[in-house]
Amino acid sequence: MSYSKENVESIVNNGISRRSFLKGLAASGVLSSFPGGILQANEDLNTKIPYLGEKSYQTFRNACPRNCYDTCSIKTYVKDGVMQFIEGATESTYTHGGCCVKGNSYVKRVYSARRLKFPMMQVGGKGSGNWKRISWDQAMDIIAKKLLEMKKEDGTLLGAALTKYSGNFGITHYGIEGMFNSIGYTTRLAGTPCWPAGIDAQNLDMGDMWCNDPEEMKDSKFIILWGVNPASNSIHSMKYIYEAKKKGAKVVVIDPVFTEAASKASQYIQIKAGTDGLLALGMAKIIIEAGLHDQKWLDANSKGYKEYKAYLDKEVKLDNVSKITGIPLAMIKELALSFAKAKPATIWMGYGMQRHTNGGSMIRAIDAFVAVSGNIGKYAGGARYGHLNTWGFNYAALSQTKPEGSVGYTGPEGAKGDVAQGKDAKSNYTDRFLNINKTARELINAKEPKVRLLWVACKNVFAQDFDRNQLIRAFQQLDLVVVADQFFNETAKWADIVLPVATQFEEYDVNVSYWHYWLTLNEQAIKPLFEVKSDLEIAAMLSKRMNQLQTGSCTFPQSVDTKAMMAKEFNPGIYEQFGIKSWEELKNGPVKAKAVIPYADGKFKTPSGKFEFYSDKALELFGSALPTYLEVRKPYDKFRMTSPHSRWSLHSQFQNLEWMEDVHPEPYVYINPDDAEAKMVKEGDTVAVFNKQGLLRVKAKLTDNVQAGTVLMYEQWYNNNIYNVNELVDDTSSDMGAFKTGAPGVALHDTFVNFRKL
Ligand code: SF4
Repeated sequence: MSYSKENVESIVNNGISRRSFLKGLAASGVLSSFPGGILQANEDLNTKIPYLGEKSYQTFRNACPRNCYDTCSIKTYVKDGVMQFIEGATESTYTHGGCCVKGNSYVKRVYSARRLKFPMMQVGGKGSGNWKRISWDQAMDIIAKKLLEMKKEDGTLLGAALTKYSGNFGITHYGIEGMFNSIGYTTRLAGTPCWPAGIDAQNLDMGDMWCNDPEEMKDSKFIILWGVNPASNSIHSMKYIYEAKKKGAKVVVIDPVFTEAASKASQYIQIKAGTDGLLALGMAKIIIEAGLHDQKWLDANSKGYKEYKAYLDKEVKLDNVSKITGIPLAMIKELALSFAKAKPATIWMGYGMQRHTNGGSMIRAIDAFVAVSGNIGKYAGGARYGHLNTWGFNYAALSQTKPEGSVGYTGPEGAKGDVAQGKDAKSNYTDRFLNINKTARELINAKEPKVRLLWVACKNVFAQDFDRNQLIRAFQQLDLVVVADQFFNETAKWADIVLPVATQFEEYDVNVSYWHYWLTLNEQAIKPLFEVKSDLEIAAMLSKRMNQLQTGSCTFPQSVDTKAMMAKEFNPGIYEQFGIKSWEELKNGPVKAKAVIPYADGKFKTPSGKFEFYSDKALELFGSALPTYLEVRKPYDKFRMTSPHSRWSLHSQFQNLEWMEDVHPEPYVYINPDDAEAKMVKEGDTVAVFNKQGLLRVKAKLTDNVQAGTVLMYEQWYNNNIYNVNELVDDTSSDMGAFKTGAPGVALHDTFVNFRKL
C-alpha cells in the first residue's frame, strides 16, 4: 500500500480501509505471527536484517516514543512528501529491523481521518458535544487572557495546573513542563502512574534504579520472568530469552496468569497475586540454609545482611510460604536451588507486581533474593526493573526561567515529581504538586487558590485515571480545560479547547529507553498535516500572545524550530556515553551506550554505599528497614480483578485506529471455567462485572489461564465503547512511590469485583 500527494487528501478525509490494512499486515507476515509477537522463536541474533525499502525513497530516522519498553528505532520512507511505510532500524541490534503491529500501523495513524486537524472550542459547555472550529490565534488569545486574568486576581498562577504523562516520551516534550515553568509557579499533577513503588524499592536497596542491558540476557544461565510478559509487551527482548534457552538456560515465568511469555518458558509457576514477596523471602531462606548464598559478595558489598537473615530465620516459615503462595514446597526449593547454582542468573520484574498495597515491599524482597544469590553487579545477571541511566540530556526545553516577580507555593513540601524544577530550584517558592494518581479528588480539593485552568498533554486522563464520576465533576468545576492531543479522545470530550498536536514524524526530537541502551534521532519526515503544531510550537505561540498582552509575562521563546531545540538537548556527557561527536551522526542510525555492568564496582548510591538489606530510609518512610512480607489488601468483593496491558494498544493509544478493531474489536472479561460454571456463565455470554466503584458490561471468555477466584480484563481502549477497566478501580495507594517520584502508586491489582450473567 502506498500514498501519493494526490490521494492524501482523500485518505485524511475518508480514512484507509481496514481491508487494506489487514491485507498489508498479512503481506508483511505480521498476522501470521500472532499471538506470540512478531519475533519468532528461531530468530537468529546474528542474522543481518536488510532494509526492504527501495533507494528511490527519501528516508528519515524516527523513534517510537509511546512509553513502551522497546522504544523502537525506526526508518521512515517518504515519497513526494508523503510517508509510504516504516521499518524497524536494522542498525539497532535491539530493534533488529522489526516493529510490532502497533508500530507497523504508524502510517495509518499519521494519515488517520480521526486525527485532530484544527483547534476547536466546545461552545455548549463541557460534554455538550457542541464544537466549533477556531483559529490558532483565537485559541491562544482565550488561553493567554485566562492565564493573565487568573494571575491578576490570585497574584499567582498556582490556579493553573498541568497534567502530562507518557503519550510522548521524547526529550523535547519536557518543553511542555518548560512552558508552564515559563509562565510562573503553577500546579503540577506529580508522580507516575506506572512504576513508582518499584522505583522506591530499588532506590532503597541500591540507591538507584539501574538494570543490565537486556541484550545480555542471551548469556544468562537462568532467567526468571517475574510478573512480566515480554512476549506481548516487550517483543524485542524475547529474542535474547529464546537465545539463552537455546543455549541451555532455564526460563521460568512466575505470574498469577498464564501469559504468552509463560507459553514460551521452560516452566510456568502460578502464584497467588500479591504473595510474590513472600516467595522471594522463602527462596532466599532456602539458598542460605543450603549454603548457596554468596557470602563473599555479601560481606564486601552489603549492609544489614545479618538482620535480614535473622528475620528469615525467625519469621519466614517455608510451609507457610507454600500455603500462602499456593506453590508446592518442593517446587519452591527446586526453583531456589537451581537459580542459585546457575551463574549468571537474572530476574526481570514487571510493573504489575508493584501495583499492590504491598508492591514496593515485594520488589525489595526480590532484589534481596538476587543479591543473596550473588547475581548483582554481574554480566547477564541483575535484578532488572528499568533504568534512566541514558537520560542525561540538558532538558533545555524544560529549563525555563520564571517571569520576574512570580509568586508560588510556600506551604508544606508537596510531591516533587520525577523532573527537577530547572533553573528555579533554589527559589523560595515552589510549584504546587498534586498526586497524579488521585487526579479527580486532588483537583476538587485544591484550595488557595483553587485550580481553574487545566492543561492536558500527552495523556488521556479519562482512560488512565480513576473514578470517572468524580473526574467529570472535577473537570466541570474548572473555568478552562485545554487538551492538546493527536486524536479526539475521551478526555477531549470534557475539554473547552482542543489543540491538534503533531506526531513524531512531523517534528524533531531525540529518544532513549528506560529498558534498552540505544539512542535514536527523531527527524521531521513530513510537513505537519492540517493545522497541527508540535507541543514546542504551541508553547511558543502561547508565549507570543501572552507577551503581546503583557510584556514579560512568559519567558518561553516566542518562536521555535524543533530541530534547534532538539540539538540543544545534547551535551558532552551524552556524546561520551554513546561514543559520538555530534548528534548529526545519528542520521546514520541509532547508537548504543558504551557497555557498563550496573554495580560491578560494588558502589551503590545508598547512604552506606552498599546494597542495603537494612535501610534506615525505608524504616523512616515506610516503617520497615528490612524487605519483609506485608499482607496484601484484604478482599472487599468475591473475585480479584487483574488488569494487565494488552498487546493491541499502549493504554489508550493505537486501539483508537479503526483498523485495530479488526484484530481486537471488543473487550472481554476472562473467567476461570469453574467460577463461570458456578455463576452459570457460558463462553460469549454478556456479563456485568461490578463492585462498589461501578459496573461494566462485557462478553465472557472462559480460560484456565486465569486462576479460580480471579477475573482478568485488559487495560485498553476501544472506539465507540465506554469500556474502561479503571472505572472499577478505586485509588487506594501502593505502599511506596512517594520517596523518589513524589506520590505513591495505585494498587490497581488489589481490586475486587463480582459478576453476573445479564
Ligand atoms: S509500541 Fe513498542 S514494540 Fe511497538 S513499535 Fe512502538 S516501541 Fe516498538
